Amino acid sequence: MTLSAEQQAEIDAARANPQPTLRAVAPGMEKHLYTAQPVLDHGFVRAIDYMGDDAAIVQAARVSYGAGTKHVSNDEGLIRYLMRHWHSTPFEMCEIKLHVKLPVFVARQWIRHRTANVNEYSARYSILDREFYIPEPAQLAAQSTVNNQGRGAVLEGAEAARVLALLKSDAAQMYDHYEEMLSQDDQQGLARELARMNLPMNIYTQWYWKTDLHNLFHFLRLRADAHAQYEIRVYAEAIAAMVADWVPLAFGAFEDYRMGGVTLSGKAIDVLKRMLKGEEVTRESSGMSIGEWREFKGVWK
Ligand SMILES: Cc1cc2nc3c(=O)[nH]c(=O)nc-3n(C[C@H](O)[C@H](O)[C@H](O)COP(=O)(O)OP(=O)(O)OC[C@H]3O[C@@H](n4cnc5c(N)ncnc54)[C@H](O)[C@@H]3O)c2cc1C
Repeated sequence: MTLSAEQQAEIDAARANPQPTLRAVAPGMEKHLYTAQPVLDHGFVRAIDYMGDDAAIVQAARVSYGAGTKHVSNDEGLIRYLMRHWHSTPFEMCEIKLHVKLPVFVARQWIRHRTANVNEYSARYSILDREFYIPEPAQLAAQSTVNNQGRGAVLEGAEAARVLALLKSDAAQMYDHYEEMLSQDDQQGLARELARMNLPMNIYTQWYWKTDLHNLFHFLRLRADAHAQYEIRVYAEAIAAMVADWVPLAFGAFEDYRMGGVTLSGKAIDVLKRMLKGEEVTRESSGMSIGEWREFKGVWK
């Protein structure tokens, strides 16, 4: 990760200037404020601001006047009840604003989460930095043979070396051409908004991303999942670690019911009941498709 000396100085100055406030403060989140958490080779996530804490969720659910958590066990029970019954609006009372630096191809997946407010670095206005995501050798894997949307065995030897060399040299060449087209030395120079179209998808962009806790949990459910692409999953995992410190009770409920839990179909519950009665149920007698059966067995095997 590369934060310039000026950027680091700005962060240090902001952190060195605490303000007294009557707002709810989550001590676990305060330690993350402004601190850039490195992700991938040049990316980061840093929390710029947040609103609310576990108590804010409880207060909203009860529409109460209280300033804080009086009975942690009651509050935890209520938060778990809200999560279990999809009573989602109290979670929307908490918000977080993040500054994220990420490769463009990751940003394309991320931006599909529409229930957020986004402001991206303008490559019409500014010149992008010469920074590209180059995977670690352990992430340089072949196309999966069982999952069209996934990767399989890690590339080895000459093939791995050649792929790495291609990724690096293509990125370098495209950036050289970008600079050449922008240059105003003895020429007019192509507009930034046009010159950028030649850049590869592994170049880094940056944005501010603000969302509420309910929609953040939805994002984390999908993107911190083991099936999510590694390059977005590592961002989701970094954010999840922050959220665990910010709203520990809500995050505990989320981990238990959403990340750790599963939804069973009517057919699956019927099969479970038959199995518990001692019946040997096969895929054919279950009424499930091959995919449903594989996923169902994956829950308990
Ligand atoms: C493993 C994986 C594979 C994927 N593969 C593909 C793919 O091949 N191609 C592809 O295009 N996308 C793909 N996606 C993206 C996916 O389809 C969603 O667009 C993305 O996950 C965002 O989810 P979302 O719409 O629920 O989130 P958000 O946009 O944050 O929306 C949250 C919820 O708000 C509601 N909502 C928001 N906007 C609207 C609206 N306009 N109308 C109605 N309800 C709304 C919905 O209930 C939605 O679930 C993939 C995602 C994952 C996790």
